Amino acid sequence: LTSKLPHVGTTIFTKMTMLANEQQALNLSQGFPDFETDPKLVQLVSKAMEQGHNQYAPMIGAQALRDTIAKKYREVYDVAVDATAELTVTSGGTQAIFTAIATVVRPQDEVIIFEPAYDCYAPTIELFGGKVVPVRLLAPDFQIDWDYVATLINSKTRLIIINNPNNPTGKVLGREELIKLGDLLASTTALLLSDEVYEHIVFDGVSPQSVLEIPTLRERSFVIASFGKLLHTTGWKIGYCIAPPQLTQEFRKVHQFNVFSVNTPMQFAIAAYLEDISYVKGLSDFFERKRNLLKDGLRGSRFKILPCEGTYFLNIDYSAISQEKEFEFACSLTRQHKIATIPLSAFYKEATNQQVLRVCFAKKDETLLKAVEILNKV
Ligand code: GLN
Repeated sequence: LTSKLPHVGTTIFTKMTMLANEQQALNLSQGFPDFETDPKLVQLVSKAMEQGHNQYAPMIGAQALRDTIAKKYREVYDVAVDATAELTVTSGGTQAIFTAIATVVRPQDEVIIFEPAYDCYAPTIELFGGKVVPVRLLAPDFQIDWDYVATLINSKTRLIIINNPNNPTGKVLGREELIKLGDLLASTTALLLSDEVYEHIVFDGVSPQSVLEIPTLRERSFVIASFGKLLHTTGWKIGYCIAPPQLTQEFRKVHQFNVFSVNTPMQFAIAAYLEDISYVKGLSDFFERKRNLLKDGLRGSRFKILPCEGTYFLNIDYSAISQEKEFEFACSLTRQHKIATIPLSAFYKEATNQQVLRVCFAKKDETLLKAVEILNKV
């Protein structure tokens, strides 16, 4: 068999988590909370099961959940989303991304992505015969040169993918930058996939934002988000995709044949849990405190801390400590100091070595304090 993805191995998240487990190391690599979700939410799942929500949900998602999501967009962004024509519930963000790419990318189409890029984008594009056009951004500020991006857009550009707030950089694209992107795309046929799974984790007084707020972007976008990040339930794998009716119609043609419909009781539980939107509004403060705990704790260490405006990842530069390459250094840290992180190079196609590691701070305070103690000794 000739591999359709010859350059792809096991993901870095699986690799580092396996190494962390093998070494009994503190696992700050793969992004998932080591604390429990709200027991009330878990009770709502049993309640939904007891109430008999155990058969197929509608293909587009349970009405109650779609209504709750639409309400969130109204309350947080003052944006109207048509819960019937524009919104599809998916099995997590990754499946939504896969389906959106499958829906629009044809062989030879070009797709612009920004590196460091989340690991599923490029292989999915390639699987459907698309050509990945990477825009390489570098630490510490990962600034986008929009004039350069403009030179990459042509009649073959089918899609541009952004992730805002960005995993792994922790950067947030501000409104002006999004408007700039809107202006850039206005006269083209390119579509946008906006991966907004960390939308409610933004710091230092910044408000959440969505490309749905920008009309030139909204009319050409698949907006993807996930409840895993919002509710500390990465194992539930429930997310959604919002897109204009015509794009949604095409998206659903693919969705119905690779997923059909998504876990029913959890949809009802999430819908009930999010009736009160104040939970969503408190998430940034919850994680900002954790970011500060880690960041402030490392102030006296030999690591240099990169800015972190959102997401639950903090990047640290180890150039004052070792000249080892990122993957090797991440492995040595796991083996010798019993702490696992992710090398930033994993998010670039061509080899890079900026001596930066991504550290996940969606962890108990106790775990973060242990991490601080370890990293201060490195
Ligand atoms: N989103 C998680 C991260 O960035 C990883 C999810 C996965 O393991 N595929 O760490």
